[in-house]
Amino acid sequence: MRQTGDSMPLGNHTIGVCALGNGVELPVKVVAAHVSGYLKLTPKILPPLAHPVHAFSENRLQYDAGAVLRDLENKRFDDCRKVIAVLNVDLFIPIFTHVYGEARQNGKIALVSTFRLSEKNDGSSPGPAKILERTTKVALHELGHLFNLEHCPDTRCLMHFSGNLAELDDTPLDYCRYCATYFRDALRRS
Ligand SMILES: [Zn+2]
Ligand SMILES: [Zn+2]
Repeated sequence: MRQTGDSMPLGNHTIGVCALGNGVELPVKVVAAHVSGYLKLTPKILPPLAHPVHAFSENRLQYDAGAVLRDLENKRFDDCRKVIAVLNVDLFIPIFTHVYGEARQNGKIALVSTFRLSEKNDGSSPGPAKILERTTKVALHELGHLFNLEHCPDTRCLMHFSGNLAELDDTPLDYCRYCATYFRDALRRS
């Protein structure tokens, strides 16, 4: 966030980061590091939760992001203001063929999946650093939704909607001034 000059607002700023299933230990650590280093919030790496078998759709051979969210929303994460869950399965919501992440406006839980973020964009392998960068962008975008930020028309803003990997790669890991201010104000409201 660009504007961090103000004193930190009061309230619970712990953001839980949690693996759903195996194979996402490193992305969990990197997302938590950005919650701390970039957002100046307090990350808490939570014990991993089970792979969301219940959300698998036999019709689509993908995982229903809404079902994963509903399941997590029934769990108690009392000491966390918001929770980012990281997984590596192909997520969908009914109106899209796939999603990189999902969160409800002002909700408590955000999802980010490395599955599609590991795809090649232009025929070359994205490499581990690029996958982690994309994962972090999606995680912080979805976290913005949890603090009620909506999509931003500014293509240089993390809250701009990315419809594909090229757009995601073009989006900086930075909120615009407007979204940064909104985010900071949302943090103050408890
Ligand atoms: Zn969004
Ligand atoms: Zn913005």
